Amino acid sequence: KLTSREFHPQDTIVDVDGVKIGDGSFVTMAGPCSIEGLEQIMETARMAKAGGAKILRGGAFKPRTSPYAFQGLAEEGLKYIRQAADAYDMKVITEVMDEGHIDMVAEYSDIIQIGARNMQNFKLLSAVGKTGKPIGLKRGISGTIDEWLNAAEYIAVEEKSPVIFIERGIRTYETATRNTFDLSAVPLIKKLSHFPIIVDPSHGTGVWDLVTPMARAGVAAGADGMIVEIHPDPANAWSDGPQSLNEKTYLKMMKEVDLLVEAM
Ligand code: PEP
Ligand code: MN
Repeated sequence: KLTSREFHPQDTIVDVDGVKIGDGSFVTMAGPCSIEGLEQIMETARMAKAGGAKILRGGAFKPRTSPYAFQGLAEEGLKYIRQAADAYDMKVITEVMDEGHIDMVAEYSDIIQIGARNMQNFKLLSAVGKTGKPIGLKRGISGTIDEWLNAAEYIAVEEKSPVIFIERGIRTYETATRNTFDLSAVPLIKKLSHFPIIVDPSHGTGVWDLVTPMARAGVAAGADGMIVEIHPDPANAWSDGPQSLNEKTYLKMMKEVDLLVEAM
């Protein structure tokens, strides 16, 4: 298989317009769950940059459990996140949910995110695989490692886009956390595939004060980076506030992560 270590023994380094993922460094992608407006994404980009994040995250198309919940600002949001990232010299990662929006999302984003709910949307995987943009592939909510690798294969077989695996937790019987963060996926994916893997301790736990310890654990496990939700005012975030770090807790986490990265 094209994603396998046997096929390609060396690590694949994904070059996101100059920001390298998988080269032994630890790359942080930070930003709000949802883009809420220009002012909010600008302020969050400032925070993200201050902590050392190189890539700005934020959803303009949101896969919400309820159809009555905020669904995202769509193209307006994409414009705002691009503007904010450019203002702070950062790259952009944002999710695409619909094949019909791929060209639009690719116009504004440096990495295309495939959400957990679409890990096995095979038509979408094939289509994003044709863009040539790096694809951030979240693990499905009930995705096994084998299913996740096969999903990546749908992208790789198009031979245009590299894959960045994103461990974001899986559903188990446990309800004290939003998902069960499967840290063993990090060394396992590294053993089985040459593509980089990053962790998402925000969706992996769903609880803001568990995010920093799991981010540190991600470094220790050998992840190539992380994607983390931050917000200027988590209590009033339009989505995923309970798992979002504010400026103070985010900056503290980044200091701890930097120290660990240096020590490794
Ligand atoms: C997100 O990144 O905000 C998101 C919706 O994540 P996931 O697809 O992992 O649930
Ligand atoms: Mn979210």
